[in-house]
Amino acid sequence: MPELPEVETIARGLAQNLTGDVIESVWLGNKPEPLKSPPGEIVGTLEQARIAGVRRVGKHIVVDLSRRSPVASRRKKRAQWIVHLGMTGRLLIAQPDIAVPKHTHAILRLRSGRELRFVDPRRFGRLAVVRHSFQAPGSEPLDMGVESFAVLFRRRKTPIKSALLNQSLLSGIGNIYADESLFRAGVRPRRRAASLTRAELQRLYGAVQEVLREAIAAGGSSVSDYVDANGDAGFFQFQHRVYGREGEPCLVCRTPVKRIVIAGRSAHYCPKCQK
Ligand SMILES: [Zn+2]
Repeated sequence: MPELPEVETIARGLAQNLTGDVIESVWLGNKPEPLKSPPGEIVGTLEQARIAGVRRVGKHIVVDLSRRSPVASRRKKRAQWIVHLGMTGRLLIAQPDIAVPKHTHAILRLRSGRELRFVDPRRFGRLAVVRHSFQAPGSEPLDMGVESFAVLFRRRKTPIKSALLNQSLLSGIGNIYADESLFRAGVRPRRRAASLTRAELQRLYGAVQEVLREAIAAGGSSVSDYVDANGDAGFFQFQHRVYGREGEPCLVCRTPVKRIVIAGRSAHYCPKCQK
């Protein structure tokens, strides 16, 4: 599942490739799950709109749309197309003569002659249009200071790992980067969030910033001609220190990395480096 750094990388790639292009027409498939807005509203909002920019908000891809025609209503001018990739969603930029893959739920035909296709085998991804400025439910981890970060965990009895994954608190942090941040901060994933000391919260704040920025940089460096939202290739440069390394030696102290399950999600940590 794409996390914040992957979505950031995908959004940057799409921005480079699509900004300035115009959506001429839209085809939507007949599977209802991917469509979070009524199909007619999606088509009406996207068709003939110019792509003014693409950016990430939380784990969502936000495509800012503008209208050239001055007769179009003011509301339409501010419309946004919101894409959530879910587990397996991808946005592919393709020439129309390239065969349309299975599980394609939307095709946007662009003035440049290319197509933007939304492909999602498992159908957890979502497409929506909004006419106001889209906001993710939680706070944006890269835009917040240490004070507002610390407040999120006050009096919270859940394990800190679960609190980091809670999208209504922080937007966009998933399993991998939560484990990696806790390792760098020296905090065990099962610790109650409210039990973290001031110093630990400060370290965790720093670790989250560092991990996300490093992962974005690793993805971003190979994203110049990005057309496949899977993103895997771009992220091999981000080395996991604990995630997925159960039983392997800790890179700091050689103690075997442990794997536990917290609220149904696996968590990896070093029993010696993390307290
Ligand atoms: Zn260790």
